[in-house]
Amino acid sequence: MRAISLLRKPLLCERSGLAMAAAYEALMERVREIETVGQIQGLLGWDQEVMMPPKAAPLRADQLAWLSKTSHAMMVDAGMGESLAAAEAEGPDDEVAAGNLRLLRDAYDKAIKKPADFVERFARHKSKSIISWTEARAKDDFSIYRDDLAQMIELARELAGYLGYEDNPYDALLDLYESGLTVAQVDPLFAGLREALVPMIAAVGECAGPDMDWVESNTWPEAAQAQLSHAISEAIGFDFDAGRRDKSTHPFCGGANPDDVRWTTRYDEAEPFGSLYGSLHETGHGLYEQGRPRHLDFQPAGHADGLGVHESQSRLWENQVGRSLTFSEWALPHWATHFPENMEGVSAEMLWRSVNKVEPSLIRVEADEATYNLHIMIRYEIEKQLINGELEVDDLPDAWDDMYEKFLGIRAPNRTLGVLQDIHWSFGAFGYFPTYTLGNLYSAQLLAAARKDLGDVESQWRTGDFEPLLNWMREHIHSRGSILTPAELIEEATGEAPSPQPFIDYLRAKIERLYAVSS
Ligand code: ZN
Repeated sequence: MRAISLLRKPLLCERSGLAMAAAYEALMERVREIETVGQIQGLLGWDQEVMMPPKAAPLRADQLAWLSKTSHAMMVDAGMGESLAAAEAEGPDDEVAAGNLRLLRDAYDKAIKKPADFVERFARHKSKSIISWTEARAKDDFSIYRDDLAQMIELARELAGYLGYEDNPYDALLDLYESGLTVAQVDPLFAGLREALVPMIAAVGECAGPDMDWVESNTWPEAAQAQLSHAISEAIGFDFDAGRRDKSTHPFCGGANPDDVRWTTRYDEAEPFGSLYGSLHETGHGLYEQGRPRHLDFQPAGHADGLGVHESQSRLWENQVGRSLTFSEWALPHWATHFPENMEGVSAEMLWRSVNKVEPSLIRVEADEATYNLHIMIRYEIEKQLINGELEVDDLPDAWDDMYEKFLGIRAPNRTLGVLQDIHWSFGAFGYFPTYTLGNLYSAQLLAAARKDLGDVESQWRTGDFEPLLNWMREHIHSRGSILTPAELIEEATGEAPSPQPFIDYLRAKIERLYAVSS
């Protein structure tokens, strides 16, 4: 009896089980190779921004173009299509396999729509265009970058054409960074948010700002800023045995996998907040990368869940935590250690008020929480027009300044502080910016949910106890990889569909507390 049951029952299970495992395992073997190429691209990209000597630029462009072409060829290989179809036909065993199959189907369908020569041209142009953007920004001369940008816009339009869209070519690009996102969704979301933000910013404009004299009257040596950033990043939980901190023109977080996470910052000796809060931001991205589920290494479902969720983690540590009063209370002695003279007579409350100064400004990455999303809305409106052919590249620099005047009431005195400030367009990332605002919205929603489980998190931060919040994010966000879609993940973690309301409530309460105004 036993032999029969062993033979018959398991045989049925084994046949389907083995075949399923075989097709799925074969698929995941192929994917592992592609993931490895992606990790190498990540490292070479980091090197290009941080270490590479300038004369190596053309060589690096060749190397990155070859890698892009190679990974694209591996993805569109006929065997990949067959392997994916075979695994889909058998159906997934669990939620991880379901996530992997969903993500691979999406990636495969997108890849086969792009001709190989386009992939190579696009990669090659990225490397070239990043170089000309860097030079144009350093020399404050848009003309150095003009032709490369024009060509990049053409490439982005070409890409939208290959990927396809229903209403708006820009939809095809938005979808690359937040799956399923469309102009039809973003337009009303941004309009509603702007309606809530503009009166808040106007009310603050009537009030006296915080005392910034202690910041502006001092110099802030770069070496001490670097030590402070490092100490705070480590205290929050970033593992420097599995990551690095470096300096680059444009701060970013990259690397190969959770054992090798690399973030960068930049320094200005006239003020210390840009580098510290930039570091907190990139640390948030880095913590997410280091918290990815290790049993899903080399699998799409083991990746972070899109850029909106990624940005929720950076904004959480930069703003919700880093710009809270209790964080300033904890951080003040660290400031005093690294800048003993500058910090004489500065209280935690003064520090808190200074790091939360609300004021329309020109640089997005250094903007306060209230005005930040207006910077994003400007880029969103401009991108829509560029991709739809409603704005010519020669008119872009002035159009940029006009939009700043309209949305924030200020104009850049030069191109470096205006249209040349962001790296994104130089590497063809049109449709990326809106994910920053989604991240702000998600971060407030996630912290509100975490607070329900953890109680008074602010008191924990006062004593430097960031572990409960980090562990909550590890459990509810980091360890979930991209098994679910971003919207599903936010709903699973918070019990609610993504909504702008927690962010608006958070900001309103904070501004009332800082400026004693109601809006
Ligand atoms: Zn970010």
